[in-house]
Amino acid sequence: MFKTIEEHIRKQVAPAALRAEFRQHEFDSMRPFCMLVFCISLLIWLVFDLIVSFLGGQGFTWLSYLFIALLGCLTVVLRFTRRSHHFDVLNLLFISVITLGMRLVIDGIPEPLRPVWLVLGVSTVLYAVSVLPVRRWSFFCAMAITWVMLNPFYHTRIDADELEGAMLISYALFLSSLVIYSYLQMRQAKLHNYYLSKVLLEQAYVDALTDIPNRRSFMAKAERQLRLATPGQFLAMIDIDNFKRVNDRFGHDVGDEVLKRVAVHIKAAVAGHEFARLGGEEFAVLFDGLDQPGAEQRVGALCERVREDLGEPPVTISIGLARVEAGDSLSMALVRADQALYEAKHSGKDQVVMWSAKLAENS
Ligand code: GH3
Ligand code: MG
Ligand code: MG
Repeated sequence: MFKTIEEHIRKQVAPAALRAEFRQHEFDSMRPFCMLVFCISLLIWLVFDLIVSFLGGQGFTWLSYLFIALLGCLTVVLRFTRRSHHFDVLNLLFISVITLGMRLVIDGIPEPLRPVWLVLGVSTVLYAVSVLPVRRWSFFCAMAITWVMLNPFYHTRIDADELEGAMLISYALFLSSLVIYSYLQMRQAKLHNYYLSKVLLEQAYVDALTDIPNRRSFMAKAERQLRLATPGQFLAMIDIDNFKRVNDRFGHDVGDEVLKRVAVHIKAAVAGHEFARLGGEEFAVLFDGLDQPGAEQRVGALCERVREDLGEPPVTISIGLARVEAGDSLSMALVRADQALYEAKHSGKDQVVMWSAKLAENS
């Protein structure tokens, strides 16, 4: 009967469009962190390059300048990157350049020391990639590039057949599995959280029975609209006539179906304006940019739609309409529309009554 939150959550699998939205959202919120990772990576590489170049006695070569320029350029490009799928590619470029740079620096140190530094390099790069907001394909490509560029068996004296080599392979497998697992788990958890908060927020502003905006949504939007004080604002309060009788005669479930039917009519008749189910069998509409005959014509047409609906049991609605003047508060407008609705009920139901000062005096 009711569309429950659990029903949404149980589905678990977020739709493709929502996944894309999540990726963009995550990139937007993590962009400063990505910049930080790029800058720190560049700095660390620079420090190592300085140490190795000057200890080795050859000083800064043109390659050092080239790598600093390349990494710097990629960091500047990141500053202007706005789309998450562009970052997937940019990150791969950055990893290709920095791992190549690391390989060249490590090749400059004595051979027995190289495996340790290569493994340290791989671990650092892989861990950093696992926390960045990249898609799966980009993450796995980054892993492959890192292992190829910083392969601890290449240009070192370690043999895969020896004990040291076997230990290194075991470590590589263990490290890769851990990094893949934590990357996938973290992505899944973040996506799930994003999906949940989105569903919950939607539910908070939608009426569960009729699937149209609820009171909370209406109050927030109408307050905002009233503050804008645009000309031609009218507030309509709508109430189903003799609804208690429908419930008593046909049962609550049929009553619910009537509420849904009326909501569908309201949605169709006032498209383009704010509307909501305020609670029970009461609805509200805030018209904007209409003159009085225009507003009366819209609500009159709505009354007619509901009256002429062939659904069973037939119902009618009464509507109280009030003009909203500049400076009126929402509660003031609601009181006036309610006074007009009261008048509509007391003068025969199934009609529209426009608020006038006379109604306020009578109430
Ligand atoms: P009037 O023409 O004066 O408006 O009379 P009424 O019977 O429509 O008004 P009343 O306020 O006495 O009754 C409203 C009824 O709406 C009472 C309540 O049981 C019913 N109602 C409120 N919320 C729901 C709901 O979600 N589902 C159903 N089926 N009934 C509801
Ligand atoms: Mg009522
Ligand atoms: Mg009623």
